[in-house]
Amino acid sequence: MSVMQNNSEKAKWYLPGVLGGLGITMKHLLVNLFNRKKMMTLNYPEEKYEYSPRFKGNHVLTVKKDGSLRCTACMLCATNCPAECIKIVAAEHNDPHVEKFPISYEIDILRCVFCGYCEEACPVDAIRLGPEWQTPGVNGANFIYDINHLAYRPNLKGGIQTHVDDEERLKSGI
Ligand code: SF4
Ligand code: SF4
Repeated sequence: MSVMQNNSEKAKWYLPGVLGGLGITMKHLLVNLFNRKKMMTLNYPEEKYEYSPRFKGNHVLTVKKDGSLRCTACMLCATNCPAECIKIVAAEHNDPHVEKFPISYEIDILRCVFCGYCEEACPVDAIRLGPEWQTPGVNGANFIYDINHLAYRPNLKGGIQTHVDDEERLKSGI
């Protein structure tokens, strides 16, 4: 590979370029200082951006009226997940109308690409991507979301109920 050198007289005078760059920086600094409402950045974490309610953030497993999981462990979400980050262990349900339920449901959130295919694939509205976008954690284990986190984390206040109730589900055969 050959490198072209610019040996012109003008190129030797680097100072105008440096001062021009500093001028642009100072201009933006002053505009931001005196026009704080128009600033493009936020003072995070004190200020937080308001995302749309349709934002596809952290997953939620919905619950029935009695607080148990809506999920029937059909595996459609795991099958459709392009990142292969959903792991489900199914068990037989005591209710003869419900074929199965998950005794373990885990999402490796660091592998997830937030595509929403799991939500699209679910026939019973058992998994949703909610407006929460922060995923803090201090070690690897914090990024494997289990049933406790997905359905019953404190900010869900006992769980999010799905709009599909048991009667509707039985009538439509799901
Ligand atoms: S949002 Fe996409 S990548 Fe993430 S768990 Fe769902 S299907 Fe998988
Ligand atoms: S597609 Fe829905 S019901 Fe089926 S395993 Fe996934 S979350 Fe559960």
